[in-house]
Amino acid sequence: MQRRPLLLVVLATIICLGLAADVGLRSLQRSQPAQAAGERDSGAATAGAAQSPLESAEDPERERVSIASRQGLGPRAARERLGEPAAAEIAPEPQRKPAAVITVNGDPVVAVASAEAAQQVVDAILASYRETYLSDAALVEELSFAEVVSWEPAEVEESRIKTVEEAINVLLLGTDKVATYTVQSGDTAWDIALEYGLTTDQLARANPGVDIELLQIGQELRITYKEPYVHPRSVAQRVVYESIPFAEQRIEDDTLWPWESVVVTPGSAGTREKVIREYRENGEVVRTEVLSSRVTQEPVTQVRRVGVKQVPELGTGSLILPVAGEISSYFGPRWGTMHQGLDIAAPHGTPVRAADSGMVTFAGWNGNYGRMVEIDHGGGRVTWYAHLSGINVSVGQQVNQGDVIGWVGSTGYSTGPHLHFEIRVDGTPVNPLNYYR
Ligand SMILES: [Zn+2]
Repeated sequence: MQRRPLLLVVLATIICLGLAADVGLRSLQRSQPAQAAGERDSGAATAGAAQSPLESAEDPERERVSIASRQGLGPRAARERLGEPAAAEIAPEPQRKPAAVITVNGDPVVAVASAEAAQQVVDAILASYRETYLSDAALVEELSFAEVVSWEPAEVEESRIKTVEEAINVLLLGTDKVATYTVQSGDTAWDIALEYGLTTDQLARANPGVDIELLQIGQELRITYKEPYVHPRSVAQRVVYESIPFAEQRIEDDTLWPWESVVVTPGSAGTREKVIREYRENGEVVRTEVLSSRVTQEPVTQVRRVGVKQVPELGTGSLILPVAGEISSYFGPRWGTMHQGLDIAAPHGTPVRAADSGMVTFAGWNGNYGRMVEIDHGGGRVTWYAHLSGINVSVGQQVNQGDVIGWVGSTGYSTGPHLHFEIRVDGTPVNPLNYYR
């Protein structure tokens, strides 16, 4: 810390001398022709800024100015002490006034007129945090800055004293020079951010409390973004409600078919009320604790009757092929998986016939199977007819062997018109060719 002001003086000296070397070469030549010539010979005129500080140590006059500066005198005071007249272009000593300097983690950031004004700035920022992040809190237990924010009296150049509004902007937005943009028809946050060299995230942070995804024509947006000097930290309680899903009780009913069901008592979800404590840093929730939890409304269990009525023995047990055509793929392992049926190639639209008498237990879309019909023949035997272009039957309908139940197609996971035909016994696919000898 001790070295920092000294370093600044040295840097300032480097910059001043660098300027002198760049723009004041002619006057240097006039007043000190020998040295200027020497500089030129050594190449210092072009390297200017880099070599000047070294040369200044050899220049007793500059060394005295530099020492005076380190003793805390301004350049003008230093020159006066050295007996030099103040140059006309040097501005008069600025007017200093009593003020309050707001510091963040000990570093002075902005000056306001008084301690009361500083208090107003801090109160307004905390109020804006409350509005933005804690408006739905049941109880704010703690709301502060992540940084140590304080103020102290000081004599400050009048032009540097900010209004309360400006000081709020400095602390919240990193600057008091805030440019704004008025939203036009058709603007998106992305367009505006891009136009002003911001990310949408920066645009959002420059406009706390504004949902930049829901812009309105005529709305004013801040398009200046710098890192804020202060960030909120809060602890607050909130009440949240959670839905409790209802369970379902199933009652078997042998007066209904398996594809039928009836809701006897409709279910309804319950509600749980929780009081939680949220820890936020910079507005983001970083931790939550559940303080209490209670069920305010019990869920109501749904009661459903599901059909278990058995399809009677309807089949003859002697099957016919559903379509005439060439078998393009057999039952068994295929492409690393199990092909659970028989593929019979046939032109699109060829009628598909029931392999045996039975009852239609499914008729509709079934994923990779595309349009599909399932027929239950009783005794645990079921047949599937897949990739159909059209369906000619409906669920619950009784069909006789040879009835047209649909037409060959290529729906679902299929590369061309064919019938995928499966026979399932007690739910397990078996080789259909076992039934055709
Ligand atoms: Zn197949």
